[in-house]
Amino acid sequence: MANFTDLPREIRDQIYKLLLTVGAEIVAHPTCFEKPTDFEVEGVIRPAVALLRVNKQISDEATILLYGDNTWRIPNSFHYVRGSEIYQDHGSLFRHITAHLDRRDTDEFHTTRRVRNIYERLASLTMVERMRHTHDDRSDNLSQSISIRGSLVVLHMSLIQSLTLVVDNLFCPSGCCRLDTIKNLYEDILHMFDPEPKRVLCQATCPRSLKDVRVTGLRSQAEKDLVYGEWGFKGAAVEQDTA
Ligand SMILES: [Zn+2]
Repeated sequence: MANFTDLPREIRDQIYKLLLTVGAEIVAHPTCFEKPTDFEVEGVIRPAVALLRVNKQISDEATILLYGDNTWRIPNSFHYVRGSEIYQDHGSLFRHITAHLDRRDTDEFHTTRRVRNIYERLASLTMVERMRHTHDDRSDNLSQSISIRGSLVVLHMSLIQSLTLVVDNLFCPSGCCRLDTIKNLYEDILHMFDPEPKRVLCQATCPRSLKDVRVTGLRSQAEKDLVYGEWGFKGAAVEQDTA
């Protein structure tokens, strides 16, 4: 009787693909690699990662498909990424990644430390001053997280083919600083993938494989002009239709 591994590699890859790719972003928790049920997927279908334990050959082949064919979401927290076996050991296999830039989604480790440090000072501030402080603190936090994630992509993900930056929830309650944050996004990440580098000649650092860079969730005409016009990036088709 023929074994699974006697099948041609292309057929095996198709089977791996059916079992391991999901039509949603995968968010990897930091220490969950050994427990397949801890893969967190938006939706109901989880990758059948038990396949990775069948034998070495199947594991090696399936690993490439699992990490290369799914879309992985880079967590906001640098501490999660640094502590995560998935990002450390397999980030170099990622080909499709997304990063959501959301001011509400702050780095808990970072925030807790800062809050502890400023607690006494906050107590002496007025309500308006406290709100301003919190706003600026979250902005700083997000900026740091953006540049960390930018360097992560460039340094570790040499096979990356598509990168999507989601700015849908990039807002503060007063809406005062969204455009500036998007401009910072260019300085921190997008300039490395500028389709026609105008300011920085960055082809040396940009992963060669990256062909598809998108920014989705843009709101105002000014934001769209900047990203699609001045910078020349792609966005969601629906956004371009309405632009
Ligand atoms: Zn603001």
